[in-house]
Amino acid sequence: MQVNTIMVVGAGQMGSGIAQVAAQAGLKVFLHDLDQQYLERALQTIERQLQRNIERGRLTAADKEQILGNINTTTDLGHAAAADLVIEAATEKLDVKRGILVELDQIAPPHVIFASNTSSLSITKLGSFTKRPQAVIGMHFFNPVPVMQLVEVVKGLATSEEVVKHVKQVAIQLGKTPVEIADTPGFAVNRMLIPMINEAIFCVMEGVGSAEAIDTTMKLGANHPMGPLALADLIGLDVCLSIMDVLHRDLGDDKYRPCPLLRQMVAAGYLGRKTGRGFYNYDR
Ligand code: NAD
Repeated sequence: MQVNTIMVVGAGQMGSGIAQVAAQAGLKVFLHDLDQQYLERALQTIERQLQRNIERGRLTAADKEQILGNINTTTDLGHAAAADLVIEAATEKLDVKRGILVELDQIAPPHVIFASNTSSLSITKLGSFTKRPQAVIGMHFFNPVPVMQLVEVVKGLATSEEVVKHVKQVAIQLGKTPVEIADTPGFAVNRMLIPMINEAIFCVMEGVGSAEAIDTTMKLGANHPMGPLALADLIGLDVCLSIMDVLHRDLGDDKYRPCPLLRQMVAAGYLGRKTGRGFYNYDR
């Protein structure tokens, strides 16, 4: 089954990236957020990305117009009625996602699949908020979405095999590589990656080295393209903290305790690139 129209709920870092790749793949996209100002910010981000691609000779000005023409922004969830698939990429809070899913369940016809881009919440639990748990699945994209190749396709306890198969096809349609993963805390990548970032933050807190020093060790000593602290700033320190909290709570092992410095930085509002300050300062 071919998907023609998708709705992306949440037009932040991830939602805008997902909308961009879907529009580039020729799909019609409804991009939803709570307020027009967030949607305008998302469109500006997408436009900047496309402009960069024109400068690099990867797109023409006509391609850009066509891609932007595929995206309709909206603050009305009602457009889910016209979508084949809804990808939820709203704030990583269970109550926020519950509210969205409950509303979508009333709006969208029964065949519409709900995929969540959650980094850490249980897909099985998200599915239980709807009357269609068989059609609720994880579609976990990576940041920045236009660049990163992987999509973790997360099968909840009730997700049907047909929906898994279908969503894998959609990921391929978007130019990505799907990998099927069980619905376990952190899925696969974050179960390994975020504890490494957390350990890097412990290293800074305990004076093992400066943020620059720790990042340099992992870039030059482990051949990582980006240091763990620069990566934390890119992901968002609030997102890193909420993933560590989930791993700690759901796996019940103290090796996943969030570093106190991470908690402190989130409390101070130093969330990384999105607030202009994290382990590094960013010119906004
Ligand atoms: P973000 O804060 O950049 O964007 C979230 C957006 O959701 C905001 O624009 C906010 O206004 C919107 N929103 C909040 N409540 C809403 C509602 N009720 N209806 C519609 N929109 C609503 O966050 P993000 O980094 O884009 O993360 C979004 C999701 O993607 C989260 O579930 C996160 O765990 C996941 N994710 C993030 C990353 C990452 O690197 N940042 C990677 C993979 C997955």
